[in-house]
Amino acid sequence: MTQTFDRHRRLRRSAAMRNLVRENHVRMEDLIYPLFVVEGSNVKNEIPSMPGVYHLSLDQLAIEMKEIVEAGIQSVIMFGVPEEKDACGSGAYDDNAITQEAIRQIKEAYPEMVVIADTCLCEYTDHGHCGVLQDGDVDNDESLKLLAQTAVSQAKAGADIIAPSNMMDGFVIAIREALDEAGFTHIPIMSYAVKYASAFYGPFREAANSTPQFGDRKSYQMDPSNSREGLREAASDVKEGADFLIVKPGLAFMDMVVRLRENFNQPIVAYNVSGEYSMVKAAAANGWIDEEKIVMETLVGFKRAGADLIITYHAKDVSKWLKG
Ligand SMILES: [Zn+2]
Repeated sequence: MTQTFDRHRRLRRSAAMRNLVRENHVRMEDLIYPLFVVEGSNVKNEIPSMPGVYHLSLDQLAIEMKEIVEAGIQSVIMFGVPEEKDACGSGAYDDNAITQEAIRQIKEAYPEMVVIADTCLCEYTDHGHCGVLQDGDVDNDESLKLLAQTAVSQAKAGADIIAPSNMMDGFVIAIREALDEAGFTHIPIMSYAVKYASAFYGPFREAANSTPQFGDRKSYQMDPSNSREGLREAASDVKEGADFLIVKPGLAFMDMVVRLRENFNQPIVAYNVSGEYSMVKAAAANGWIDEEKIVMETLVGFKRAGADLIITYHAKDVSKWLKG
C-alpha cells in the first residue's frame, strides 16, 4: 500500500512521546487564587455552594496564606465582605476597610506575593449594585469617582495590580488618572474588559454577599449573546490604558479568549468563575466525574484558547495534582 493517509498516532504512542509534543501546559504561576476576607476574628466559614472556599477573618487569612504560599500560588485576588454597607459603598475606599487591611497584612508577610485588588462597589453598597444610584439606575460618571478613590486606597495599602470589575464606561481611564496623580504610575490595571451578565456568578454572589437588591446588572454587564461587543469593550479599555484583559466567565465564553488573543497583545486572563467551580465540585461529590481530569482539561482549555492567566478557585487542588 502506498501512503494514502497520515499517521497521527505516531506522536501519541507513549506517555513520553505525548509529553514531548504537548503544546500547552498548566503551571502554578499561571493561576490566580481568589480570597474572601471578612471582619471579626476566628472566622473560617465555608461557602456552602463552593466547597473548599471560605470567608476568612484576618487571623484565619494568615493561616490560609501559609498554605497558599506552600502550594506554590504566586498571585491572589482579594474580595472584601464588610459588615456595614451603605448607599455609596464607602467601605470600598476607606483606607482602613477590610480589603485594605487584608492587602497590607499579606504584603507585610509575603512581599513577593502578587496581590490583585478587585475594584468594585457592589460588595459595599446596601443595594448591591456596582455603582451609585441616581433615580434607580446606576450613575456611570458618579461611580467612576468612587472607583478611582477605591483604586488609590487599595494601591496605598500595597496592592500590586488594580482589577476594576464593574463595567462602567471609562473606568480604566478614571482609575489610571487617579493612580498616576497619587504617584502609582507603576501599578498596572487588570480590566474585567469582557464581563457578561451571567448566571454562572450565582455562588459568588452568595460568597461576596453582593446580590443586587433590585433589578439586575444587564445595563452594565454584557449580553451573553454578544461577541463583537466584547471586542469593542476590550478596545476601549486598551485605549484607556488597561495592562491586562479579563474574560469573565471563562468557560461558556472561551471564544472571547480566542478573539482577544487574536486582536490584542496584552496578557489575557480567563476567570474560571464560581458557578463553573460549583458544578464540578457537586458532580465530583456525587462520583459522576473525575474531578482532577475535568479541572485539568478545563484549565488547559483556557491555555489553548490563548489565556495567559487563569483566576480559579481550583488553584490549591491543582497544586496537589501537579505535584502528583
Ligand atoms: Zn460589582
